[in-house]
Amino acid sequence: MPKPETVAELNKLYKQLDLLHTDRETVRRLLQLDLLKVIRKDAIQANHQMTPDTLGIMMAYLIEKIIDRNHPYTIFDPAVGTANLLTTVMNHLQEAIDQPVQGYGIDNDDELLAVASVSVSLQREPVELFHQDAIEPLTIPQSDLAVSDLPVGYYPLDENTKNYQTRAEKGHSYVHHLLIEQSMNYLKPGGFGIFLVPSNLFQTEETMGFVKWIHSVAHFQGLINLPADLFKNQAAQKSILLLQRQGGGSHQAKQVLLGSFPSVKKRAEFVAFMNQIDAWVAANLKS
Ligand code: SAM
Repeated sequence: MPKPETVAELNKLYKQLDLLHTDRETVRRLLQLDLLKVIRKDAIQANHQMTPDTLGIMMAYLIEKIIDRNHPYTIFDPAVGTANLLTTVMNHLQEAIDQPVQGYGIDNDDELLAVASVSVSLQREPVELFHQDAIEPLTIPQSDLAVSDLPVGYYPLDENTKNYQTRAEKGHSYVHHLLIEQSMNYLKPGGFGIFLVPSNLFQTEETMGFVKWIHSVAHFQGLINLPADLFKNQAAQKSILLLQRQGGGSHQAKQVLLGSFPSVKKRAEFVAFMNQIDAWVAANLKS
C-alpha cells in the first residue's frame, strides 16, 4: 500500500491531467508508458505482454495500405490483452481513412482485460470487450479486419479443439494456429487477418496441415519479417502474417508479399519499403 502522502501527491498530479480534452493517441501513449514500467517491474511473461508501438504501427501502416478507404470498418482482436495493439491500429486507421472504426476485443485474462477496459474508456474508443477463451464460440459480428499479437505455444484443452481443422493430430494443438483459424471464421468474405506470429511459423511439424487449412479458406497474401533489433533473441523473432478470407471478390496475389520491415528509425528505408508495398498492392490486390 502506498503511504497517504504519496496518495495525496498522486491525486494532486492526477487533477492536473485533462484527459477529456486530450486526443486519443496521446492518452494511449501515456497509458503505454505507465504499463511499460509495470511490465518491467513485474517481469511479466512474453505471452501476456502488451504489444509495443513499434510493432503496432507497422501493422497499422500495412493495414492502411491494403484496405479500401471509402467505408467504415469493424475490427477485432481475439487476444486483446491491454488493447494497446487494437487501439494503436484503430487510432491510426481513424486518422488515415477518416472513417469510423468499431472494435471488439476478447481475452481470457481478466486482469489484462480490466486494463483494456480503462484504456478504451479513457481513449473514448468504441470498443466492446469480452472476457472469455477465444477458442470457444465468439459473440462478435462478422468483421472486416482481425488484428492480433497471438499467444504462442500449446493450447491445453483438447476437448475444445474438436471442430478445428488446425488441431494437432496427436497431443495439444498450437494456440496460435487455432486463434488464426478462429479469426478467419469471424471475418467477412474478403476480410483481412493481420497476425503477429513467430518467424518460424512455417517450420514446425504442424506446418503441412496448417498450410492445407490456409489454402482451404484464405489467400496467403504475405509474410513480412520485423526488424531483428526489436527482439531479445532469434527464438523470440516475430513476423507479420497477412491472410485474406476467400470470397467477396478477393483473389490470391500473383506474388506473395515477402520481405523485411526496416527499422522505423531508418526513415528513408522505411519510406522505400512502404512504396514497395504500394506497388505490390496495385499489382496484386487491386488488379
Ligand atoms: N496485443 C496485446 C496488447 O497490446 O496488450 C497483447 C497480446 S499478448 C502477446 C497475448 C494475449 O493472449 C494475452 O493477453 C493473453 O491473455 C491472451 N490469450 C492467451 N490465450 C488466450 C485464449 N485462449 N483466449 C483469449 N485470449 C488468450
